[in-house]
Amino acid sequence: MAERIKMKTPIVEMDGDEMTRVLWALIKEKLLSPFVDLKTEYYDLAIKVRDDTGDRVTVEAAEAIERLGVGVKCATITSNAARQQEYGLRQLLPSPNGTIRAILDGTVFRRPIQVSRVKPSVSTWEKPITIGRHAYGDLYKASEMSIPGPGKVELVYTPRDGGGEERVTVADMKSPGVVQGIHNYDESIKNFARACFIYAIQEKLPVWFAAKDTISKTYDGRFKDLFAQVYETEYKEKCAAAGIDYFYTLIDDAVARVVKSRGGFLWACRNYDGDVMSDMIASAAGSIAMMTSVLVSPSGKFEYEAAHGTVQRHYYRWQKGEKTSSNSVALIFAWTGALAKRAELDGLPDLFSFAKKLEDATIRTIEAGEMTGDLALLSGGGKILDSWEFIDAIAGRLL
Ligand code: NAP
Ligand code: MG
Repeated sequence: MAERIKMKTPIVEMDGDEMTRVLWALIKEKLLSPFVDLKTEYYDLAIKVRDDTGDRVTVEAAEAIERLGVGVKCATITSNAARQQEYGLRQLLPSPNGTIRAILDGTVFRRPIQVSRVKPSVSTWEKPITIGRHAYGDLYKASEMSIPGPGKVELVYTPRDGGGEERVTVADMKSPGVVQGIHNYDESIKNFARACFIYAIQEKLPVWFAAKDTISKTYDGRFKDLFAQVYETEYKEKCAAAGIDYFYTLIDDAVARVVKSRGGFLWACRNYDGDVMSDMIASAAGSIAMMTSVLVSPSGKFEYEAAHGTVQRHYYRWQKGEKTSSNSVALIFAWTGALAKRAELDGLPDLFSFAKKLEDATIRTIEAGEMTGDLALLSGGGKILDSWEFIDAIAGRLL
């Protein structure tokens, strides 16, 4: 066997739970370690370890990404009452993804892996559409009130430094109803825009952004203005050098254009739009097991993962001795994304081409009709392999 490819800087490796933990070890054993002398800083984010350390391990993993620049994460259980019972947990901890995202102040980009055997529901989409969702504020940090009867509802701003109060009337309510107050920060909007341009330049994708500034002149208008400002002052030249442009339009126009487009762009979405549209894109593209996800911080740190969860139901069947046909494609692409990024940062062309070779071997395996059950169902046929056979089939194409 040829010499294994050497790495320089370690990748932050975050192990996880259930079926994805099983696949994680298998991917490393069969698809990575035989070819690459893997250098990782390992953090075990298994639910028990997070519980035992009071979640310190998650914080340390996030800090390691901040320090080393590139991470790869397995899916993890977000604890709830049922999981507390199942694993005998001391406490209910927040979602690790939420914790890591908050520490890195990052934006999540999701992109489906397209294969010709699985046709997207929208026939014009030749290339995948990537969604970047601003994951702070708006509806998701709203204050709401139920209004029992007639009365005046106002927005009041009281400056902390004792300046004059500012008020606007929301509504002079004539009868019972509901009200809501939402907010966002200039800095959060700008950091969202920065992460979008960093990702878009790296992937050479044009950027689309949309709001409803014709109706919401102050709130949505601020989003429009800050996005444009970040583009003009920080990224315009870098975008031009990467051969990509920035396009702003109204959200309804954007939606209409998306379904007539050929794909191949980054759709930067406001929090609510991203919540809704990422499900639309995922479902139209095919299987959740083919959806990649990368967290990008405004300072240019990258964390790669699969968009799906721990595939719990398969795990229980695996525990009983069954060879499940769980799809490992998005997990493989999480690794190749991290390896390629590390290779780029450290100037390691061999490592970069290995990552591309592994992606190519994975796609070719599926195109040759060898796939897991979820894909066979979507592509109307194909030989169904279990997870072990599928990974062996990919490994066979790597040699
Ligand atoms: P899930 O693990 O994504 O699985 C939902 C269903 O989607 C599965 O039962 C399976 O359908 C199908 N599926 C997902 N990934 C697949 C794959 N790789 N191959 C084949 N089929 C796949 O979501 P969940 O059941 O809602 O959540 C399970 C656990 O994951 C929860 O504890 C949750 O907290 C956690 N979670 C973690 C993350 C993360 O770490 N990023 C994200 C989401 C959820 P069939 O059973 O019909 O085959
Ligand atoms: Mg959603």
